[in-house]
Amino acid sequence: MFEIPDKKLSILISADKIAARVKELGAEITREYRGKEVVVVGVLKGSFIFMADLVRHIELPITLEFMGIASYGDETKSSGVVRITSDLTKPIDGKHLIIVEDIIDTGLTIDYLLDNLTTRHPASVKICALLHKPERAVKQVPIDYLGFNIANQFVVGYGLDFAQKYRNLPFIGLVEGASE
Ligand code: 5GP
Repeated sequence: MFEIPDKKLSILISADKIAARVKELGAEITREYRGKEVVVVGVLKGSFIFMADLVRHIELPITLEFMGIASYGDETKSSGVVRITSDLTKPIDGKHLIIVEDIIDTGLTIDYLLDNLTTRHPASVKICALLHKPERAVKQVPIDYLGFNIANQFVVGYGLDFAQKYRNLPFIGLVEGASE
């Protein structure tokens, strides 16, 4: 079992529960995007496991891109000021984008990304997030495909980090004692 020194780690959403929900999201996207040129954009690093599982349930000839972003805030607080550390490799004009995020907390990061990507003239942009903390929303952003709503708690695993570690946990874990 995984342990985090001086913290209490418990399972909030099991690997099985995540897998079942991700499969449903993939099926929904498959139904809604048939016949369209779809680019799935993963936001690094947190979305990499979710993205890998999700796209295997999208039964369409999609292409994949990644954006690397770094927040100027500290590790656990979003400042909303985002720096692009790695950009898309291809133009996206006329393409249908699905942005894949690990978690939408204040909404500031995704709001910035939406603005940034919209200026590149895609045909449409939708957001797919595994997790959302509705209590923390500062910017209201439409989440078109959502895995789970969670309370205002700090979570790790399935791509999400705690001081860059524990991204490899196969479940979403709750860290008690982690400051936000
Ligand atoms: P937002 O801009 O929506 O406030 O923040 C989104 C980003 O904050 C996420 O992509 C993630 O990197 C980080 N974040 C927000 N809440 C959590 C959390 O509970 N756990 C972890 N590991 N990261 C979080």
